[in-house]
Amino acid sequence: NVRVRFAPSPTGGLHIGGVRTALFNYLFAKKHNGTFILRIEDTDQTRSVEGAEEYIKNTLDWCGINPEEGPDQGGEYGPYRQSDRKNIYKQYAEKLIADGNAYYAFDTPEELEAMRERLKESRVVNPQYDTVTRTTMKNSLTLSEEEVKRRIDNGDPYVIRIKIPKKEEVRLNDMVRGWVMVHTEVLDDKVLMKSDGMPTYHLANIVDDHLMKITHVIRGEEWLPSAPLHVLLYQFLGWEDEMPQFAHLPLILKPDGNGKLSKRAADKAGFPIFPLNWKDPGSNEVSVGFKETGFLPEAMVNFLAFLGWNPGTEQEIFSLEELVKEFSDQRINKAGTKFDFDKAKWFNQQYIKARPSEDFVSGLIEDLKTKHDISCDADTAIKIIDLLKERVTFQSEFAANGLVIFQAPSSFDEKVLKKKWKEDTPEALRLFAEKLQHQDEVDAEAAKSLFWETLEASDYKPGQFMQPLRLTLTGEGSGPDLMAIIEILGGEKAAERILSSIS
Ligand code: GLU
Repeated sequence: NVRVRFAPSPTGGLHIGGVRTALFNYLFAKKHNGTFILRIEDTDQTRSVEGAEEYIKNTLDWCGINPEEGPDQGGEYGPYRQSDRKNIYKQYAEKLIADGNAYYAFDTPEELEAMRERLKESRVVNPQYDTVTRTTMKNSLTLSEEEVKRRIDNGDPYVIRIKIPKKEEVRLNDMVRGWVMVHTEVLDDKVLMKSDGMPTYHLANIVDDHLMKITHVIRGEEWLPSAPLHVLLYQFLGWEDEMPQFAHLPLILKPDGNGKLSKRAADKAGFPIFPLNWKDPGSNEVSVGFKETGFLPEAMVNFLAFLGWNPGTEQEIFSLEELVKEFSDQRINKAGTKFDFDKAKWFNQQYIKARPSEDFVSGLIEDLKTKHDISCDADTAIKIIDLLKERVTFQSEFAANGLVIFQAPSSFDEKVLKKKWKEDTPEALRLFAEKLQHQDEVDAEAAKSLFWETLEASDYKPGQFMQPLRLTLTGEGSGPDLMAIIEILGGEKAAERILSSIS
């Protein structure tokens, strides 16, 4: 029975890589009729941010990738928030100590700093607390048993560190990367329990994955360096036989493939990622921001699925259900995957076009009201959406580009004026306006007939007349179907606009 988890730390706005991880876990679970679990990893209280857990849950909900077990859903293996599981972890740290696989360390921050300085001076590239340096530090491997006991009884602060074995090879068979081998010499004696009695990520993560019967750990590549440590913990705790399988998802790169995706890269690409209700807009993490930007959830999900996976066919548009069907861990790439901003927009366009116009009505009405103080009825809203649907990338453009319906132009495109405006243009425009005024109901069809009648009467070619007409109605030389614009305006209003523009 497949059980996977998304295990975010609520330290800030969920970034795009996090949502991708959640999605891949979800797809893998559904594909195998398994269970998708949300676990909040908040043991590092100093980094936890209020509201972050809520933001994570809302984002998952918005994407439609809902966990079956989690802090809100509950489940057999709860609680699902690590701060609510505080009391679980200590016994495992103590077992590790009892078995000689972990030890108490009493070093003060100053002593640790001095150790690093010393190592740096002797040109150690990566100074760390490891099998070599621990022999010079204050820990239960170097202090006498009485001294250790005295310090603990005395209430001296301590941490518990893993005792990395000397000169061993740790192996793991990653579902994406194949066999990964790491020599213990490069591993450090990571802290498992902090001086405040809270477990670190490493200990809590392993204990919880085990207790929650997780079968597959699917997460970002940035966790690959921690995986050997995790394998050792499984071995030390005697859980090796039930160790989950690992799958490390490829890094998400900048569009040019040059380094990791960052908020700065997003800004540079002109990609409107601005986490509206996120607190730390200055951080360099690419927060989801998709929702606030106006992305449709199905577009974002479709786009994210392709960050590190492909179906092996030409098909690009996939609903969540189709993704579940097609998804296969065999088709996850090893190589970093480029984040193509234009592709993301393309997906959104496709999904906007495919959705019924009704879906955007209330959004448009609200945008017009709140951003422009314009009241718009549902009929007009639908017409505006129909008019613009083929041309917009984001929903917000319905209001921005639809403004032209409510506001007469205040300026006119100079280039078009120069090129297309002739001495007798106003006369032809007046004729058209008068025809509009004399017609009872002007729909797009009717407007078109009047347009042709005007051309005949004034001996104009459509190419000479269309742009000037558009100019008087919208101020621009190009845009969506002009006859549809006239229909939405109504004959009377359209005529008024034309006449006041030429006066
Ligand atoms: N809490 C870790 C994170 O924030 C989870 C990593 C893992 O999935 O093991 O990404």
